[in-house]
Amino acid sequence: MRTQIGIVGAGPAGLTLALLLQRQGIEAVVLERRDRAYVEGRVRAGLLEQNTVDVMHRLGVGANLDRDGLPHDGISLRWQGETLHVPMRELTGRQVTVYGQQYVVRDLIDACGERGVPVHFEVDGVELHDLAGEPSITFDDGAGRQTLSCDLIAGCDGFHGVCRGSIPAGALREHHFTYPFGWLGILAEAAPAAEELIYAWHERGFALYSMRSPSISRLYLQVPADESIETWPDQRIWGELQARLGVPGWRVEEGPIVDKGITPMRSFVAEPMQHGKLFLAGDAAHIVPPTGAKGLNLAVNDVRLLSEAIGRYFSAGDSSGLAGYGEAALRRVWRAQDFSNFMTQLLHRLDDGDTFGSRLQLARLEQLRRSTAAITNLAENYVGFPATDDF
Ligand SMILES: Cc1cc2nc3c(=O)[nH]c(=O)nc-3n(C[C@H](O)[C@H](O)[C@H](O)COP(=O)(O)OP(=O)(O)OC[C@H]3O[C@@H](n4cnc5c(N)ncnc54)[C@H](O)[C@@H]3O)c2cc1C
Repeated sequence: MRTQIGIVGAGPAGLTLALLLQRQGIEAVVLERRDRAYVEGRVRAGLLEQNTVDVMHRLGVGANLDRDGLPHDGISLRWQGETLHVPMRELTGRQVTVYGQQYVVRDLIDACGERGVPVHFEVDGVELHDLAGEPSITFDDGAGRQTLSCDLIAGCDGFHGVCRGSIPAGALREHHFTYPFGWLGILAEAAPAAEELIYAWHERGFALYSMRSPSISRLYLQVPADESIETWPDQRIWGELQARLGVPGWRVEEGPIVDKGITPMRSFVAEPMQHGKLFLAGDAAHIVPPTGAKGLNLAVNDVRLLSEAIGRYFSAGDSSGLAGYGEAALRRVWRAQDFSNFMTQLLHRLDDGDTFGSRLQLARLEQLRRSTAAITNLAENYVGFPATDDF
């Protein structure tokens, strides 16, 4: 088999890249380890920046998003029984849209099918070869071992994929930060009791109120990093959500829990995101804690930049965009790392054995109430800075 771009991973990064390339007349083949139902059912992110929505529209895959997505003009911060509304649209002129990652992935896979972009599910044993010369990917597809020769490879296979590990030791610099807590997330068949997201600071730990549709709520609780989901029966989850999020006259709407799990919280960046003819994108190159809602949006921004650089390479033989891809993508990645770390450190119980950290958090929250500059800074970062050529 031969193609121009071999893409490993059918998550948001890999699928969006395949479609962006197809629009430019560039061939790609996507290789995915899991089956289609698994990939389309994976509940993860759900908050799309305007930039991400714009990419979906540019690809002509925005019809379901326009019908079912929930545009939000702001978020609320809640602490010590008080609520501060952050009017993002008023402060920045931009908004965000709530639309589950599983629906994004479903819409992208449907579009690949309609446009003849090959996505091979359930491939095993992916290995990359000759990254500096004539690259190829070998894999098992049930019919035997296959070889896909390509001009370039896009490693879009997430944090636990194989592409980053194919780069020789010493060629990448890795930056890590692991938080001592995780998020217990649930999906519940309950009509959201709020129209916008509520981020709550609480002595018992952080909680987040969000939603996926007018009948489905998505809620999170800060829990210790090594927590087992078995110790959290549904009743305990609802009790804790009410304690951390509830205020006089307002309660979290409860309903059957249809999905629950615990996600570790980490920050990670691999620089320079490329090696020879391999280009990393999305979670394969960087992870952010979900407090800033940036993971999916960064993945889409990476492949927007990468597809433009690949386009220039094939149309004009200009490889400067490819050479500068990692540097360009990392500018937004580090901005998002800083913002995600800021939101995480602002809102989570720090368990540092002292009250100093929590008093600083309250002083910072109070500053957001008093300072237009401070709250505008938060709003600008949250909605995402406009996409330009290199950011
Ligand atoms: C449990 C969880 C919850 C999250 N919650 C949020 C949230 O609430 N908000 C937020 O903004 N972000 C969240 N994120 C982050 C967000 O979902 C990711 O940033 C986003 O999925 C990145 O997209 P991606 O395409 O880079 O990687 P992925 O979505 O991870 O896609 C990678 C794909 O590659 C495939 N793959 C892996 N290895 C191989 C291999 N060897 N061969 C072939 N295919 C392979 C995988 O099966 C997968 O389909 C969450 C992530 C996780 C794991």
